[in-house]
Amino acid sequence: MSDELSVNRFDYEANLRRAGSYRDHRSAFWPPTDGYEVSFLDLAGDTPDFGGAFLRSLAVLKDEIEAEWKRVKDKGVPARRRFNAPRPVAEAMREIAEHLPGAADRRALTLRARAVQDGYNDDILRELAGMEEEFTVVAGQVSTWYGKEVKGLPTAFACRADEHRQSFVSQALRAEEDVAAHLRRLHADLRLGRLPAFGAARLFFMAGEGNLHPKHIAYFLPEDEGVKYSPFKKTYYFGNTHQALLESISAPLAARFLRVDAEFDPAAERFAAIPTLGVLSHELGHFVHRPATDFKELNAQDRWASVVLQEIAADVFGILILAEVWAERFGIAQADVIAYYLAECLRYVDRGLGHFPDSDGMFLQLSYFVQLDALTVKEERHGRVLAGDSQVVLAGLRSLARVLADALLAGKAEPAAALHRTFGPAAPAPLRPLIEELRRLPSKSVEYIQEHLYSPAASAA
Ligand SMILES: [Zn+2]
Repeated sequence: MSDELSVNRFDYEANLRRAGSYRDHRSAFWPPTDGYEVSFLDLAGDTPDFGGAFLRSLAVLKDEIEAEWKRVKDKGVPARRRFNAPRPVAEAMREIAEHLPGAADRRALTLRARAVQDGYNDDILRELAGMEEEFTVVAGQVSTWYGKEVKGLPTAFACRADEHRQSFVSQALRAEEDVAAHLRRLHADLRLGRLPAFGAARLFFMAGEGNLHPKHIAYFLPEDEGVKYSPFKKTYYFGNTHQALLESISAPLAARFLRVDAEFDPAAERFAAIPTLGVLSHELGHFVHRPATDFKELNAQDRWASVVLQEIAADVFGILILAEVWAERFGIAQADVIAYYLAECLRYVDRGLGHFPDSDGMFLQLSYFVQLDALTVKEERHGRVLAGDSQVVLAGLRSLARVLADALLAGKAEPAAALHRTFGPAAPAPLRPLIEELRRLPSKSVEYIQEHLYSPAASAA
């Protein structure tokens, strides 16, 4: 590709100028870049065996959501959170509900179909809040990437509760007292808010915006459906999607670019609980605050920097909770937690700069460690690597946690903005050699294979 045509996914200033302006973007791939390397995750294996008619009705929902996605691109959204043609989507959802064996699952899906047709109301939200679902089907104007489009776009997904991963969540959340005590040791003023429900699940169906690239590993409902301040809040975490991203993107990046005291091997048994705990700890990290915490002033001054820094705080407090409180209870080595964390930093940074607040945030964390000498950019025979020791990285994380407590969580804009300026992608020098090497490699993404929705079993009468 000629230089004129090539797009630099690491051109922070140019990308940031366009952030949130991709309303007309129709490609399955975003952000724009020179090329993509795609791996596949076949969702057939996680799909429940409820017969051919069940699969056929999922395929109908997929077609309807994709038709609505096109209508929204052509004409926009008729009213907040609503579809141009809600009825066929709602009908497909009711059709799917008939094949679910559990009464609660059928009821929840019928309520969601009603919300698609007539909009959410307090009664629907209240009833959904009290339900324990095994199989969940959601359709709506669901949030996409913040740097792509700030409004939601038609998306539908279906997932099943993952008991094994959920057991890690329950065990971790029993340590709440220890987490709160650990936070106070980091900074006497730190508090832990209440975490909404966290459901570990395996995805078996995805349609519309959520089926484009890159993939989301979690949705936060109903906020991601545009319903703010609902008493019903639940994170749906797709463990199988996350595992595919770790194996096909994070692990190869770590093998190429990371030299620490543990090898990141997401398929190994010793890493089985870490990804779920990693995402759970990030969620928990969002609820770490001080009595004075208020992002209003920073939001008004620089909304992007505010989102970046809030993601950083969630990462940093989260991974400290995982490494210093939960790891011992699970018999997990701290070095493995840090290997996972740094591999994920590489995956996020590799998506580019100025496109995703969380990627910019991961860049800032790596840059902070390099400037503190907690990590070093080293020259190896085949190129540059990030080298270091997990205990030193942990010390760097504790240092950054205290800086965040003072600069971001104190409720004032300027010290937070200064932190973002000094260590964020606007000051790329410490990581530039690494970024130059990442740039020579294509972007990476995972594609869902859903051929089973159209298999002979599905089309048989
Ligand atoms: Zn977050």
